[in-house]
Amino acid sequence: MLPREFATEVAKKLQAAGYQGLWAGGCVRDQLLGKVPTDYDIATDATPEQVRQLFGHRRTLPIGAAFGVITVIGPRSAGHIEVATFRRDMEYSDGRRPDSVEFTDAREDASRRDFTINGLFFDPVQNEVIDYVDGRADIDFRIVRAIGDPHERIREDKLRMLRAVRFAATLGFELEPNTRAAVIQHAPEIGTVSAERIGGEMRRMLVHPHRAAAAQLLADCRLLGEVLLDGEQLAQNRANWRTRLGWLEQLGREAEFAQAAAILLSPLLKVQGINPTSKRWKLSNAEQKTIRWIEQHVVPMSRAHLMPWSELQPILVHPAAVKTWQVAKVQFGEHHPGILACEKKLQLPADQLDPLPLLKGDDLIELGIEPGPAFSRLLQQVRAAQLDGEIETRQQAVHLVESIQTGE
Ligand code: ATP
Ligand code: MG
Repeated sequence: MLPREFATEVAKKLQAAGYQGLWAGGCVRDQLLGKVPTDYDIATDATPEQVRQLFGHRRTLPIGAAFGVITVIGPRSAGHIEVATFRRDMEYSDGRRPDSVEFTDAREDASRRDFTINGLFFDPVQNEVIDYVDGRADIDFRIVRAIGDPHERIREDKLRMLRAVRFAATLGFELEPNTRAAVIQHAPEIGTVSAERIGGEMRRMLVHPHRAAAAQLLADCRLLGEVLLDGEQLAQNRANWRTRLGWLEQLGREAEFAQAAAILLSPLLKVQGINPTSKRWKLSNAEQKTIRWIEQHVVPMSRAHLMPWSELQPILVHPAAVKTWQVAKVQFGEHHPGILACEKKLQLPADQLDPLPLLKGDDLIELGIEPGPAFSRLLQQVRAAQLDGEIETRQQAVHLVESIQTGE
């Protein structure tokens, strides 16, 4: 069963039991835009306990019950669906999440949502859109507009500023002028949002093919300097900024977050390293490492054609080598000699790209050499000679070791 069929079935079952059962939010928006929704959310006037009774305790999970959300477990192929009781959010004393929720009707549930395009319901049984917030027109005119007073809505939840930018950029919509003005005014307050949530939005923007538009809109809305330490400087050198956006655009559909981050952040990384960004976006250790490695090896790759193999090879066998090469290709062009040299080498079969070493540490110990700094230097020299084709056999490697030792 497809997720869509399961979402219809859940709504039908709610309606057959005398409740309302409507698709809500993002899935309605995506469907109206002719896109396949990534997931379906259902809104209902049934209470969480009634939802559990209707679908059975074994087929439901009460993880979000405190906020009125029950997860209904679908057949394997359909995944899970969240069924949320219509609610109004109470106070937002921390500017992030409501202190408590109260159950209410569909109209009020629509008005607590962030943007009109996200405030629509759809009845899959009657096949009809239910629009309390004039969201349909905004979808047709491609506008991201806060529901109600944008200042008020941002004050309640500052993350909505980044969501506004993300929806505008990824959907290719305009930010409605009052909503935009409110974002600009409240941009300095984004710091009260947790690094996890900021990082989550940044990841989603940077993996999207419209990542350059997202970066530009972040800069235009003065959010760039708030989500990155000294981030506003990125856009100050206009020519450099435009070049960088061009690269981001060319990265392509499949590009990963680390590749986009390395391009966007490169000028900052050179000055301040990865730590400040890491803190603001809550990067994982793996993300930090990959971003840094890409940033540090793009320029070396452009000089690949000038390097001895013993210098280039260790770069090309790194796990992030292909990702880095893709970034270097965007920055230097596919016909650049360094880019072509890497491409050719990366296509080598594994045993040629990374042949087994003629000598390993154990072999040196057997030769009576003590582990230490000179030991690893010796190993490196033997490896370099092997890669550069100066020696081909184990015996030649042993000779080399002996001659280096007697020479020293
Ligand atoms: P996508 O999942 O494609 O990013 P979405 O619209 O489904 O888009 P979700 O974050 O999954 O976004 O949220 C589902 C719905 O919940 C939204 O469509 C919106 O109606 C509501 N919503 C989510 N986050 C907020 C928020 N911070 N403030 C108000 N409403 C929100
Ligand atoms: Mg969603």
